[in-house]
Amino acid sequence: MIIDVHGHYTTAPAALDAYRGRMLARLNKPARARLALPAEAVAASLERYVAQMDARGIDLVLLSPRASGMGHEIGGEAVSRAWTEVCNDAVAAAVAAFPDRFVGVCQLPQSPGVSPAGCVEELRRCVDELGFVGFLVNPDVSGGLPPLTPSLGDQWWDPLWETAVELRVPGMIHASATRHPAFHLNGSHYIAQHYAATVEICGSDLLTSRFPELALIVPHGGGGVPTNMNRHRALHITERREPFDDAVRRLYFDTAVYDPDTLLTMIDTVGADRFLFGSEMFGTANVVDPRTGTAFDDIAPALLPRLPAAAADAVSHANALRVFPRLAAALAARSTS
Ligand SMILES: [Zn+2]
Repeated sequence: MIIDVHGHYTTAPAALDAYRGRMLARLNKPARARLALPAEAVAASLERYVAQMDARGIDLVLLSPRASGMGHEIGGEAVSRAWTEVCNDAVAAAVAAFPDRFVGVCQLPQSPGVSPAGCVEELRRCVDELGFVGFLVNPDVSGGLPPLTPSLGDQWWDPLWETAVELRVPGMIHASATRHPAFHLNGSHYIAQHYAATVEICGSDLLTSRFPELALIVPHGGGGVPTNMNRHRALHITERREPFDDAVRRLYFDTAVYDPDTLLTMIDTVGADRFLFGSEMFGTANVVDPRTGTAFDDIAPALLPRLPAAAADAVSHANALRVFPRLAAALAARSTS
């Protein structure tokens, strides 16, 4: 069984982008109007997705809105809230179309300079009413310009973490847009943000004394931190922090790194119990590697057979069921309904 914890609804019907276009034309008068996507259009938008899951042996995808389009940096809090609700409703419609293949993960109505306490209401709606099992959290809300976002280790975020622990939902750290002209969106900005998130959390008391029960997943191998272990081991000694090996093992990572040799090194360093299968399907790496003739993001056949059996089970699905406590319950409820 393979559970892919990192998929985005990048194939959503064009009506979603059209809605966003109308919203952007009326930024000064944001309406909190809902968008009802036709069920047939939603189902059609996922046919290619499900076909690729079948071809790759992926049983289930934890589906979230398109990350680069979360749009937190655009407009104020009301605009972010309205767009976030529509995006999360679109994911709920996708889950309803294929309830055996998708489970929802929400985006949050983050907005530059606004406390994450403003995200709590929508997180509760997605978990309690839509049945979602996790959330994306953007570590750089403004996209690189003032007002800059506090470190993920800062207590500024605590209202969000308190609710996540209470609801038993893990967060996936996930960058969105950048307004910095020197950063490539999903080339350097994503990776840099995920690297910074790992360093900031490991250098803080977030997962030690403040929220030891909080589960956070950093995609793309934490931006490459596990390949620079000695730099961070040295920094933690110099700064009199806990050993970096202990700190980094409080986080979870996914396999959306795409190179099996690199992943094997990372899993060996950080531990198979901290890695979750994630391919970010229909994302950056959905391109054929000319060296192998298969897509870069078709990582399962390149990675899982090279792991010991217990590690392969952990990475492919067992860790996901443990880190997303609501996932098993959601699947059980569907199988009996
Ligand atoms: Zn992603």
